[in-house]
Order: sequence, then structure tokens, then C-alpha cells
Amino acid sequence: MKSTLVTYFPPKVQKQLLENQKNIQGKPYEKYFNPEMEVPVDLIKAIQFGPQAAEKTFPPTPENLNRLYADLDNFPNAYYGAADDGENGLTTFNICRHFFPGVTVKMMQWWFTWHVLEKERYSIWFPYAHLANTVVYPERMTNPDLSYEEKLYGNPNHIVEYIGNHLMDAVIHFTDPTQLGLDKALLEKQNLTFSASGWSHSYDTPEVPNALMLHIGRDVEGGFELYTCYFIGAHTVLSQYSGISGGGERGVAGMKSAGITREFMEDNSYEMAVHDITEFTRLGSILPQLYAEFGPK
Ligand code: ZN
Repeated sequence: MKSTLVTYFPPKVQKQLLENQKNIQGKPYEKYFNPEMEVPVDLIKAIQFGPQAAEKTFPPTPENLNRLYADLDNFPNAYYGAADDGENGLTTFNICRHFFPGVTVKMMQWWFTWHVLEKERYSIWFPYAHLANTVVYPERMTNPDLSYEEKLYGNPNHIVEYIGNHLMDAVIHFTDPTQLGLDKALLEKQNLTFSASGWSHSYDTPEVPNALMLHIGRDVEGGFELYTCYFIGAHTVLSQYSGISGGGERGVAGMKSAGITREFMEDNSYEMAVHDITEFTRLGSILPQLYAEFGPK
């Protein structure tokens, strides 16, 4: 797969790199912190010729999500744009598929429970853009009696990271993908045994869910396939996914009064696409060796 170097980082993100570089000195995994970030040419080209046309986008309803994951052969390489669902909401529209040679479901699950224990671990995932990630119950992550799901679900992640030049301070509630609209039988049929999916809210507004994020994947010949989706913004369906009665509606009302436009969403969606492609390409490239060194023996 042909790759190219990422060459554009906003100044405050460059400053964050220097800060992260200082903090990681002396950590046993320091060598995995590499500021030279590469991305697959085919993915980056897929997001360089304008956002998806309105009629090709869709809001994150259960019907749409199940249709998307039912046809993995035609899952898009990389899409960005805005999903305008009128009175029901407006979100970013991000879809991406990745392939990581030599990676397994087991390694991915280990990563999502290992990196949250030190902010420097989180920084090796995206040396420029990641500041901190902490969980409410860190002791669960090292408890050998708990399954992956028992470690991650109901254990909110407080993340601070740059998306483009915007500092995002949010809480992700990872949960079972069936609670986020996906059909259990469909996931089983497609052998999609990996998930790090959830909904989130801004750190200071816990009563307003503002995103749905799906990272769903499976072991395949020679590696791991990851199918990601992000819908960031406001939509009434987020009440259902988050279990916060009226939360999605509050988000929609807030967005309306703030005058958020489709163009604003497209800008954010593009930055999210670049972020996703950059960080997951990095993770896929370091994970086999990282797991061999620091994973369970
Ligand atoms: Zn990130």
C-alpha cells in the first residue's frame, strides 16, 4: 500500500508535539513515539475532492447503520461531509475503512484498555494531537478477571485532543454496539467481533450527547479490518443511544440557536477524517510490535 507523509499541522498542534516529546522521555515505550506520520495515499485522495453530495449522506439512524455494515464489500474507503436531517438534526458524516497487516482483534482490545492508564501512552497514538485520556475506573483495566467489555463499558473515557486546530474536551461512553442501533445477528454474521464504539458529550455539558462513534472490526486473512464511522453534532436519535431522555433534542435546539451550518459541519468532518486516517494508520503500524513487547505474556 502506497503511503505519503502528513506535512500539515497547525502551530498549536506542533507545540503540543514538543510538549508530548518532553513528557515521554524515559518511558519504556518511548521509541514508538514517532512524529513522522504516514497515511495511505488511496485514503487521503478519497477526501481531497470535496465533501460527499447531500443525497449520498445519511443520518445515524439504526436502519442506516445496519445497511452500511451489512454490505462490507461496498463499505466506502473514506467519506466526509455533513448529514443534514432537517428538524431531526445535523451532524458530520465520516466513514472510513482500514486494513492493518499483522494486527488482530485481541491486540486492538488490549490497546483500548492499555493506553488509558498513562497520557504518554495515548500520545504515541497521535504524537501531535493527543493530550490526555483517563477513565473513571482505571483499576478495572488491569483486572485479569474482567472481560474486555467489562473493562471498557460503563467506564467513561475523558479525552482531550486536537481535531484539526480545535481542542476537543469530551467524554466517550463506550458501550455495546447493539445499544447503538446495530443488529446482533448482523454483527455475528459478518464476524465483526471487535468494537470500541460509543456516544460522547462535551466535558462540561453531560446532558447533551453530541456524537456517535463506531469502531467495528474483524480478523481477516493477514490482518485486521476496521470500519469506522463518526457522526458529530446533534441528532434526536442520540437520546436513544445515550439513554438521556431529551438529550438529543437539547443538542438540536442548541445547534439551531448557535446558527451552525452545513459548511461548518463539512469543515469539522474533513478535520475528523484526516485525524482518523492519521491516528489509525499509526496504531496499525506499531501495534504488533507494541503488543509483543507490552501485551500479556
Ligand atoms: Zn485521536
